Amino acid sequence: MINFVGAGPGATDLITVRGMRLLQSADVIIYAGSLVNKELLSYASEECIIYDSANMTLEEIIAVMVESDKKGLKVVRLQTGDPSIYGAIYEQMRELDKAGIEYSLCPGVSSMFGACAALKAELTPPEVSQSVIITRAEGRTPVPKSESLSSLASHKTTMVIFLSAGMTEKVSAELIKGGYDADTPAALVYKATWEDEKIVCTTVGELSESAKENEINKTALIIVGNFLKDIGSRSKLYDPTFTHEFRKSFFGG
Ligand code: SAH
Repeated sequence: MINFVGAGPGATDLITVRGMRLLQSADVIIYAGSLVNKELLSYASEECIIYDSANMTLEEIIAVMVESDKKGLKVVRLQTGDPSIYGAIYEQMRELDKAGIEYSLCPGVSSMFGACAALKAELTPPEVSQSVIITRAEGRTPVPKSESLSSLASHKTTMVIFLSAGMTEKVSAELIKGGYDADTPAALVYKATWEDEKIVCTTVGELSESAKENEINKTALIIVGNFLKDIGSRSKLYDPTFTHEFRKSFFGG
C-alpha cells in the first residue's frame, strides 16, 4: 500500500492528524525535498528509510515504491500542500495501477490556504467574488490554450496563481490584457506558514517590480482580485438583519 500524503504548506503542525500518523507508521518515506519542510521527517520512526525525490526520476520513485511494496513495507509519498494540486500524482498512480499496487490519498492544507491565512483574507466575500480560479502561467510545462491567463482574467474573479513567481512580468501583462485594471490588488506570498514567510501587497500592474524588489522568484503564490481590498462589506450569514435556517434575525428579516 502506498499512501500519498499532503504535507501541508510548510509549518509542521499544518499536516493533518492522519498524515502525521501515516508518517509515524511508515517504513519508507519518499518526500519532495524541494518544497516539503524536512522537519516533518521528525515524525518518522528511527528505522524508517527516507528518500528525497528531488534527485529522483519518476522511474526511480516507482521502483522504490514497487520494491518496498513487494517486501510488505508501508510507503508514504509525502508531497507539498495538497497532493491533488500540481502534485504530479497522476503519473505515479498510473504506474502503480500498471504494477497492480494499491494506494490511497491523504489530503493536505494547500499552500493557497496557508497564504490566505497569512493574508487574513477570505477568497470569496459576497458581492466581490464567488469563484476562485486556481491556475498557473505557461512555462516549460504547457497550459491548454483555452486556459490562458488572459482568458481566465476576463472573469475578474479571485485568482490564485501557482508556479509562476518567476514569471511575474508575463503574469502581469496577461492579466491586464485579459481585463484586470492595473491597480487591482495583488499579493505575493512567499513560503506561506514557514518561518521566513514573506507577504508583499501590491497591484497587478506592479507585480514584477514588487517581486524584484523583494527578491521573490520561487516558492510563492500570486493572488489577485478585489477581495484583497478592504471593502467593509459583511457576510450575510452573520448579518443581524438576515435570517437563515439556524438563526432568526433580531429584526425579523
Ligand atoms: N500541491 C501544492 C502545490 C505544488 S506546486 C499545494 O497544494 O500547495 C508548487 C508551487 O506551489 C510553488 O511554485 C508555489 O507557487 C506554491 N507553493 C508551495 N508551497 C508554498 C508556500 N508555502 N508558500 C507559497 N507558495 C507555495
